[in-house]
Amino acid sequence: MYLSSSIGIPPNGTNPRRGPLPWREAMQLADRRLFDDYSRACAGVTVLEVLRRDATDPIAFWERVIRWLPRLFELKRAGERLVREGRRSQAEIDENLRWQMRHVYPPGYALGTEQEELARAQCALAKARWRAQAARTPQSAPVNPFPLQGLGQVPAPPAPDSPVANAFVAAHMARRCVPGQAGSSTCATLVAPRAIGRVVIHTATSSSPAVPGNPCGNPVPLARIIAAVQNPPSDPSKPSSAHYYVDRDGTITQMISEANVAFHVIGHNRDTVGIEHADVCNQPDPYTTQLYERSAALVRDIARRHAFRLVVFGIDTNDANAATVLGHSTIGHHGDPGPYWDWEYYAALLRWDGVTPATRPQRFVSMVSQAVTPPTDWQVRSRTQVAGGTGACIPNSHCASTSHSYGDNYWKTTANSAGTDAEFSFNLNRQGQYKVSLWWPKVSGACRATEVSAVLQKAGGPAMANAVFDQSRNNGKWNDVHTFTVPQTGGQGTLRIKRASLQAGHILADAVRVLKVA
Ligand SMILES: [Zn+2]
Repeated sequence: MYLSSSIGIPPNGTNPRRGPLPWREAMQLADRRLFDDYSRACAGVTVLEVLRRDATDPIAFWERVIRWLPRLFELKRAGERLVREGRRSQAEIDENLRWQMRHVYPPGYALGTEQEELARAQCALAKARWRAQAARTPQSAPVNPFPLQGLGQVPAPPAPDSPVANAFVAAHMARRCVPGQAGSSTCATLVAPRAIGRVVIHTATSSSPAVPGNPCGNPVPLARIIAAVQNPPSDPSKPSSAHYYVDRDGTITQMISEANVAFHVIGHNRDTVGIEHADVCNQPDPYTTQLYERSAALVRDIARRHAFRLVVFGIDTNDANAATVLGHSTIGHHGDPGPYWDWEYYAALLRWDGVTPATRPQRFVSMVSQAVTPPTDWQVRSRTQVAGGTGACIPNSHCASTSHSYGDNYWKTTANSAGTDAEFSFNLNRQGQYKVSLWWPKVSGACRATEVSAVLQKAGGPAMANAVFDQSRNNGKWNDVHTFTVPQTGGQGTLRIKRASLQAGHILADAVRVLKVA
């Protein structure tokens, strides 16, 4: 009886044939319903902390506010009329409004539209009703199960959806939508629970330099991006967000529940989970082994829980509609994660069971950008300049392109000129199959027949392979030289980029990748 009269919802209203519910059940049912009402009333409502909330009976208080608000706005409009007609000054009208508002709003409060203020009051009323009920519901949600982060905010889940993630830090509510949320173009027609069947890989490009005055001041810490996502977007039309953020060290922070929609790819948010990675895509080094491995473990877990197959775009299929793991650049207008993201390695990690050391994919990259001096008669060249950058520097707001070298620099020489070959060496200490590949940038006049030889010194005699590459094409990706089988006793590999060629042009030496594929 108490429930019916004070809250207006009969505890057994949905099932009249069943008769009165036991008291405990009725209380819990009412609690759940009121929490749903609260979630609905506050969805999409920006509620300000500054509203007065110290009323002794908040339910009665907000009911009165809702009845009073239309009168307040009528008064406001009448005042504006009087000002227009020159019968009152603006100051007089403002003073009068302040006086009317003093019991509800704090001093200096900028009144929104009538609709906005009503929505705020209704959200606050729904919250007050739920809290009053929760306070008297036995063994249910306690009065304040999680610290509420604002009058209108729905409590954040206390734990991430995936056991692979390290923490849940709630994104600002304007940065996500809830399936069924009225007024949201993305969520209004979406039914809960939403179906999830794809993940989208991003890198958190940032327009703000890490070092003031230096647009290429690498890195932009992911922590700074996570902090920003807890605030409302500076441009309300661009509420960008993702479900997960993977840092260089492999730490994963979830910011939006998978049940809700994040705003990460226009037109593809309803059925996807968005994963951002540290920190910018203008250099290869943020893509660490830990980042790749932990990100792949997360994606394996998401696919397992939502029961979809992992089909990697560019590896398992070239059809974007058939892929379930794809980059933002494939389906959106952004360049991330960019060519430095190693899809082949990532796809191998997605196929790995995550535990067996013998089958763990491994990757090793040697790049001339790390070398102190080039071999004799090779020139050090900077990668192509990008608007807003200087020299080899690409601003943090841009990804590298397939024209770019792997890192800041590459080496260049003229075919058949006198000098030494460029040589890369690598130790392979674990049994398995290792693929050796080459990367070069786009350089006009590059040699169409660059000769490369690879040798693996191992027990039982060396293995050798020769290959010829057209370096005027296939830039900005890994070009396979050979796959070696390394015995249990390991091996020592050498890759040589030769100056001698059947063609004229520039010979390019940039980066070598060794990928353990089996
Ligand atoms: Zn993106």
